Amino acid sequence: MAVPDPRRGPAIDLHTHSTASDGTLDPADLVLAAAAAGLSVVALTDHDTTAGWAPARAALPDGLTLVPGAELSCRWYPDGPAAPGVGLHLLAYLFDPGHDALRTELARVRDARAHRAERMIELMRADGIDVTWDEVRTHAAGGTVGRPHLAQALVRRGLVGTVAEAFAPRWLGRRYRLPKDDIDVFRALALVRDAGGVPVFAHPRASRRGPTVPDSLIVDLAAAGLYGLEADHEDHAPPERDQIRALAGELGLVVTGASDFHGANKTVRLGAHLTAPDQYASIVAAGQGCAISAR
Ligand code: AMP
Ligand code: ZN
Ligand code: FE
Ligand code: FE
Repeated sequence: MAVPDPRRGPAIDLHTHSTASDGTLDPADLVLAAAAAGLSVVALTDHDTTAGWAPARAALPDGLTLVPGAELSCRWYPDGPAAPGVGLHLLAYLFDPGHDALRTELARVRDARAHRAERMIELMRADGIDVTWDEVRTHAAGGTVGRPHLAQALVRRGLVGTVAEAFAPRWLGRRYRLPKDDIDVFRALALVRDAGGVPVFAHPRASRRGPTVPDSLIVDLAAAGLYGLEADHEDHAPPERDQIRALAGELGLVVTGASDFHGANKTVRLGAHLTAPDQYASIVAAGQGCAISAR
C-alpha cells in the first residue's frame, strides 16, 4: 500500500466519498482526515452529487487543495436501450455545477436511486427482513442513496457483520439488487465536457462488482472525449493496473490512482493509492468549469 511520503512529492488522492453519498465522514471531516493522512490534494467525488463541495471548501485546512468532482452512475448499451447494458462509473472533475443539463441529469439519477432503494426494501420486506425506507432515508441524511445505506440497515439488524458482507450474492450483491437508472455513458461524457469538466473512467477493470467493458469501448470513449483512466485502485490486481496504464499510453489518456475512500463503509484508507503530479497537473489544466480550492 502506498503511504503518503512527502519526499516523493505531493500526495494526490482523486477519488473519495463523503456523507453527501455513501461515505461515512461528512465533507468537513473528510478534508480534515485527508490532511491528517498527509494528502496535499484530495478530490471529493460523491456519487451523482455536488452537495459536498461547499461544506468541504468551507472546512479546507491549510496545505490542502480540494478538487471538486463527482462519480457519475453510467451505463453502456451495446445491444440498444432496451437491453440491460453494462454499468460503469465516470469520475468528473472541475465541471460547472450549475450547468443546467448536467445538474438536471444528476437530480434525475438521485431520484431514481431513491425509488430503487424503496423497491429493494420492498423485496427484502417480502422476505421478512424488517428494514424500512424511513430508516434508510433518515440514515442517508439527504445524500445520494446507495446500497451501502441498505447494507448498514442489515448490519444494524445483526443480519450481517459488516457492510462488505451485505454485498454477498444472497443479499445486496444479487438477491435484492435492482438496476439503477444510469446515464448513457456517451451522454455523460458529452455533458461533462460541455460543463467544462474532465472525465476519467473509474476502476475500469473492477470485475468484482459485475461485468466490465471491453477495451474497444474505452477506445470509443477516448474518441468521444474521455480524458483519463483510473489504474491504481483497490479493485484492480497489479496486472490489470499495468494493462490500464498501457492502454492509457496508447490512447494518450492520463492515468490516475486513488483510494475510493468510503470511510467506515470500506476498509481502504485515504491515500492508499495516489496520482502522479504530472497527471494531476494535466487534469487541472484541462478543467474549465470551476476552480480548484487551495489553502
Ligand atoms: P450502488 O451505487 O447503490 O449500486 O452501490 C454501489 C456502492 O457500493 C459503490 O459505491 C461501492 O463502492 C459500494 N460497494 C460495492 N461493493 C462493495 C463491497 N463489497 N463492500 C463495500 N462497499 C461496496
Ligand atoms: Zn460508493
Ligand atoms: Fe465507483
Ligand atoms: Fe467511488
